[in-house]
Amino acid sequence: MKKFKAESQRVLDIMINSIYTHKEIFLRELISNASDAIDKLYYKSLNENLGLAKEDFKINITSDSEKRILTISDNGIGMTSEQLEDNLGIIAKSGSLDFKKAIEKSDDINIIGQFGVGFYSAFMVSDKVEVISRAYGAEDAYIWSSTGSDGYDIKKTKKEEAGTTVVLHIKKDEGNEVAEDYDSFLDEYTIRDLVKKYSDYIRYPIKLTLIKDDKDENNASSEDDIKDTQNQEDIEKDEKDFDILNSMIPIWKKRKSDITESEYFEFYKNEFHDFKDPLRVIHTNVEGAINYTALLFIPARAPYNYYGKSFEKGLKLYTNNVMIMEKSKELIPDFFGFVSGLVDTDITLNISRETVQHNSQLRKIASNLEKKIKSELLDLLENDREKYETFYDQFSVQLKYGIYESFGANKDVLIDLIMFKSVQNDKLITLKEYVNAMKEDQKYIYYACGNSVAQIKAQPQAELVLDSGYDILLFTDDVDEFAIKMIEKYALDAEYKNAKEFKSISASGDLGLTKPETTEEKSDDSTLTDFIKETLGDKVSDVRVSSRLKNHPVCLIEEGDISMKMEKVLQSMPNNNDKIRAKVALEINAQHPIYLKLKNLFENDKDTLKEYAAVLYEQARLIEGLSIESPSELASSVITLLAK
Ligand code: ADP
Repeated sequence: MKKFKAESQRVLDIMINSIYTHKEIFLRELISNASDAIDKLYYKSLNENLGLAKEDFKINITSDSEKRILTISDNGIGMTSEQLEDNLGIIAKSGSLDFKKAIEKSDDINIIGQFGVGFYSAFMVSDKVEVISRAYGAEDAYIWSSTGSDGYDIKKTKKEEAGTTVVLHIKKDEGNEVAEDYDSFLDEYTIRDLVKKYSDYIRYPIKLTLIKDDKDENNASSEDDIKDTQNQEDIEKDEKDFDILNSMIPIWKKRKSDITESEYFEFYKNEFHDFKDPLRVIHTNVEGAINYTALLFIPARAPYNYYGKSFEKGLKLYTNNVMIMEKSKELIPDFFGFVSGLVDTDITLNISRETVQHNSQLRKIASNLEKKIKSELLDLLENDREKYETFYDQFSVQLKYGIYESFGANKDVLIDLIMFKSVQNDKLITLKEYVNAMKEDQKYIYYACGNSVAQIKAQPQAELVLDSGYDILLFTDDVDEFAIKMIEKYALDAEYKNAKEFKSISASGDLGLTKPETTEEKSDDSTLTDFIKETLGDKVSDVRVSSRLKNHPVCLIEEGDISMKMEKVLQSMPNNNDKIRAKVALEINAQHPIYLKLKNLFENDKDTLKEYAAVLYEQARLIEGLSIESPSELASSVITLLAK
């Protein structure tokens, strides 16, 4: 007996002890595995001219309610003993751990398929699971068996044809702590319903065979039973043979008017392993130079690993009824990587996966899909704001990153899809909405980096902008400012005649504001500011009297291309951007009482002035939402001042 790897064991424990109410999903997972295995063999046959016909493939379900055995067999690609071990025993993938984490959060086993551990759902309903498999082209067959907790065995066995049979020894209803209805999984009508509900679109026939009770008379041992269930011819006489359970018509091949919303939703959830309904379904049928059908879904939430390395974008690609690729990356741009779905086309692809990448017709489809997705998202934005905001909450970073990473090349596609919080309105607005609401004399689109509207409102630099009646966009995500630097300007007109530039409220130079009146004489100030600059050294590029502050004593102003927020983001990146620094100037409000104090100290007590300078600088950083640069120096300056 071999032990499961620790991670696999954890998933198994979840399955075995599951009190999950939708245990029925196990059937869908096993049928989906069977269908995938057939896809693989059919694809191989086309590629290598093996001459297998699509009509020869099938999935058989047999139910023996007396012996409580349910089997799911396919004549697909099968598995060698190594593959049985790798795929069902040790599962080296990180999927199992991710699954465990996700389950702790959502408690919904329905998502199991996302993690590449769907097979284990069999243990929700079975005491024992056996997998008899013969790889295509191999002589030997192997049987993998496990009762879950202890481990698994793999032994040599016999099997007539290539493919896999999963044998489930269905749990008994009695003796369980929680009342369950395992019996129903052996029942003809339940099986029919489940196949209809979850697997109707599977493109291979799914047949059901009920094994009659009187089969018992043979007194066969358990292992023989299993072999019997494989050998269709032997049992054909004794059993009632049923028709094909699934319609085999993929949903995307049906007329749109014949499909209900809930059918689309069920298909999406089953096929793409989500437990939430999608926000939008895009079903398009294009005929012309290129013929294709696309069925795409905009999810309501990001997949668990969406922003991680293990996420793979892509659409399923079918040509002429053959699934060519599980995830064709070429069909979808990175910035719409959250879209899931499939494309079915009649273009003759020279099946090899490499050629898919360079196919000009596929590129054309991809470009059409990009336009289509954009227009559907805009439609959502205009006509169902609440749904769009749900979407935006999940994927805004992706859209903004799309602008940044292409150095602005994709900005025309994405610019009208992005939104930021408006400080005046405290809600998300688009750039179009911002510009439409701009005051006549307003020169710039103002933005500020921070965590909340309240924080920005409290920022000294925001005071004059807001007092002038101008709105400020709140940038909360790391990527925001990087993306905006790529956009540079926004215009309502396509020719960019009236384009408005973006301006950080912390930028130096002209902010396009009417200056507050200053009563202070400035002629003798430079000696004071020079002294403070000297005290602060490299921390600031300049110290000066401010023309923009009203009530706050100090603020930091950005002088170069790198903002303070960008400095923070760049420094947090792994490839050591330590040397990248934002150039900032410290501005002091000459009308603030502190200013008189500073002047006084400059005349009478330069040592104390140094402590003041240190405290004011750190305070300006804190207001910006930055961390204290030199905590120990600040602490000692504060204590020195308190002790005076
Ligand atoms: P997933 O199907 O998401 O990868 P599973 O846990 O359901 O995860 O299955 C693990 C692997 O076992 C599959 O990727 C496949 O390689 C193999 N497998 C499962 N069922 C079959 C089958 N009926 N025929 C061939 N291979 C199978």
